[in-house]
Amino acid sequence: MIADMGNKAEDRGVNENAIGEESRKINRELLEFLDNSPTGFHAVANMKAMLEQAGFKRLLEGQAWTLKGGEGYYVTRNDSALIAFRIPGKGFSGFQIMASHSDSPALKIKENAEIEVEKRYVKLNVERYGGLLCAPWMDRPLSVAGRVVVRTGQGVAAKLVNVDRDLLIIPNLAIHMNRKANEGYEFNAQKDMLPLFCGGTAGGGFLKLIAEAAGVGEKDILDTDLFLYNRMKGTVLGLDGEFIAAPRLDDLQCAFASLKGFLAAEPNGSAAVHCVLDNEEVGSGTKQGAGSTFLRDVLRRINTAMGRSEEEYLMALASSFMVSADNAHSVHPNHPDKADPTNRPFMNGGIVVKYSANQKYTTDAISGAVFKAICERAKVPCQVFFNRSDMIGGSTLGNISNSQVALNTVDIGLPQLAMHSCYETAGGKDTAYLVRAARELYSSSLCGNGDGEYRIAWAEGQGE
Ligand code: ZN
Repeated sequence: MIADMGNKAEDRGVNENAIGEESRKINRELLEFLDNSPTGFHAVANMKAMLEQAGFKRLLEGQAWTLKGGEGYYVTRNDSALIAFRIPGKGFSGFQIMASHSDSPALKIKENAEIEVEKRYVKLNVERYGGLLCAPWMDRPLSVAGRVVVRTGQGVAAKLVNVDRDLLIIPNLAIHMNRKANEGYEFNAQKDMLPLFCGGTAGGGFLKLIAEAAGVGEKDILDTDLFLYNRMKGTVLGLDGEFIAAPRLDDLQCAFASLKGFLAAEPNGSAAVHCVLDNEEVGSGTKQGAGSTFLRDVLRRINTAMGRSEEEYLMALASSFMVSADNAHSVHPNHPDKADPTNRPFMNGGIVVKYSANQKYTTDAISGAVFKAICERAKVPCQVFFNRSDMIGGSTLGNISNSQVALNTVDIGLPQLAMHSCYETAGGKDTAYLVRAARELYSSSLCGNGDGEYRIAWAEGQGE
């Protein structure tokens, strides 16, 4: 349940922390989306449902595409990556793309998961997925979700599963047995991170439970992709409700905001492309990741299905713009020294444009300027992120995607704390800012001459 903040902030007169109704509404929707998306598979399924509701037509990669201007379509790969697009009625000059990722760091369940402990306990065998912070996973109710693949009469089929109750816990070792626990602890994934599942002896109870939750026969399950997830629901906090906290804000906050902006936009001149890729947390090198051909294949197929030539495709790419949207680090209240001395993004300060001289982020002066112009038009504040010059920092999907399809790209994100914890904190105003910027992006088009000059065609009547 999300607390209703009422009008408390406004009651005190002018208050810069006050969260407007637009933000409150979008945060409620975001937190509900996060609660219903314990894994990337569920996030993609929920986005599909939102697209279907808005009248988008499903395409399959394995079938021929017949596309019409003025219509909206979506296609998925591996049930964990999704690309939706809308082609303006009068055709298109380029693509306006926002790309985010569906996956989050977690613990993944191995096959033959049950491990018996002295005939008294059963725990589950897991491995790390991505660069998770281990400590937050301890001592809190967890459960399991993902997909099972079952045999059918004709072959195999995937089915989503979520054991929707408190099921597991990873207990800490008491301080009395590790007096140095508060002086820094090195987590051993094979020893420390295994969740307690049940009392007694191992007897196949885990697979039975999964089969029941998926509504399939236990014997029909041939394989699984199952992840642990934090059962704590998202919430609004802070004196004026100015922060939100929830699992998987990185990067479903961006994926959700991108989709909301996409659905609210009216494409004008360019095809609008909402793109959510998988496996960013493990390097993007899968068939459904940013390093794959998925985005390139979809853009090329849109071009072909609209009866356009290869040259027209390459011309369209030169007049395209991509926003790689992946959350950014806010200045930390207890560690302000970890941020760059002059570029200091804060939660509720607006969208963060990320820069790196070594091009770990794709932003350059052109793409940064185009994005700042979009935000200006959308009346959305922008901030800037650089890593401290003595810190390496993280990476994201923009530059990896550019190795497959080279586009003017900017790396941005929403400011947050505790990235890769299983419960992260972000600003109450920033989701709405990204929705507005995404709507402006998807409603505009970029005309590049490939020579340093770009004309942005805005949608009429927007950005006012
Ligand atoms: Zn991310």
